[in-house]
Amino acid sequence: MKLAARVGQVAPSLTLAIAAKAKAMKAEGIDICSFSAGEPDFDTPAHIKAAAKQALDAGKTKYGPAAGEPKLREAIARKLKKDNGLDYAPENVVVTNGGKHSLYNLIMALLDPGEEVIIPAPYWLSYPEMVKLADGVPVIIHATAESNYKITPAQLREAITPKTRLFILNSPSNPTGMVYTPDEIRALAEVVVEKDILVVSDEIYEKIIYAGVEHLSIGSIGKEIFDRTIISSGFAKAYSMTGWRLGYLAGPLDLIKAVTTLQSHSTSNVCTFAQYGAIAALEESQDCVEEMRQAFAERRQVMYELLTAIPGLKCPKPDGAFYLLPNISKTGLKSLEFCDGLLESQQVAVIPGIAFGADDCIRLSYATDMATIEKGMSRLEAFVRAQI
Ligand code: PMP
Ligand code: GLU
Repeated sequence: MKLAARVGQVAPSLTLAIAAKAKAMKAEGIDICSFSAGEPDFDTPAHIKAAAKQALDAGKTKYGPAAGEPKLREAIARKLKKDNGLDYAPENVVVTNGGKHSLYNLIMALLDPGEEVIIPAPYWLSYPEMVKLADGVPVIIHATAESNYKITPAQLREAITPKTRLFILNSPSNPTGMVYTPDEIRALAEVVVEKDILVVSDEIYEKIIYAGVEHLSIGSIGKEIFDRTIISSGFAKAYSMTGWRLGYLAGPLDLIKAVTTLQSHSTSNVCTFAQYGAIAALEESQDCVEEMRQAFAERRQVMYELLTAIPGLKCPKPDGAFYLLPNISKTGLKSLEFCDGLLESQQVAVIPGIAFGADDCIRLSYATDMATIEKGMSRLEAFVRAQI
């Protein structure tokens, strides 16, 4: 069948595809260790589920406003003020079907054909594909392991052209786990203001950061950068709500209205009773977030130690999120070959770095239990030893 050119130029999400394959193999009874999807293994906290059940029983089963339940928009605005020092009114917030949908809608509402979006690599794999779907041009700037996978302000400045509309900042980062320091964020903000472009700050991992690290939300630095910032976030990672499909955007009013118009003709409101779970997530105790963060911290330590003890694998220690991105070039294999071989011979699922613009790396998620981490690392070691 003839399909639109726009879908022909994008690849399906490799993270979702490999994670689904690993789940299917597990269901067949295969003893597989999966470090594929960035999906917390915890159940959604009970009080969040209870709030959604209560809303369901109370008849919150109808269409709602396309921009989201007013109470949830208020709760998000309060959260952004309290946690991030950002002054948004509820009207500046739109509730979306997840962080992915937030970014997709933002890019759709913003870009005209040929306009450029700056994306630091290694990047989360959906960013360039979304830009292409909007007939925009992804402009990739490369960060290396030596610079802790962070770009410099000079790199950002050099990449900006008269066609640049947007810079995508993702700290803590998927897939590198790196977190920009407050000073580094300030220096990037200066370039954004000086060159008068927009920045979307994807802060979906803001709560998953480790010892001594601080998350600074770029828009909180001052009025000039605030006016040029859009926040994209969601509930999936911090509250273990991946399947709920709940996210949000906050930003300038005309942009939020445009995204709402787009949603009013595409998805309409996010599942009404699910939004009541999100209200509970934000407004009730945050102990669950801290408990999960501590579990991730322990897993990071164990996985990092086991992995960096494997001869031939090199990896900077991440400060946030739940990923390791080791370099595999000593094995002589490219990332796809490596991942296929590892799955085939050791039943270990990881994501090839090529999906993130880093073909000499693989990505492992440690959002899984400790026993799987220990077993998986010894299988990984056996595979790597057989290559070198
Ligand atoms: N941004 C980043 C950096 C991510 O890793 C993800 C992945 N899950 C998302 C956005 C989207 O998350 P969701 O749509 O599940 O809320
Ligand atoms: N973002 C997660 C990941 O990188 C989930 C998969 C996806 O949404 O593509 O693994």
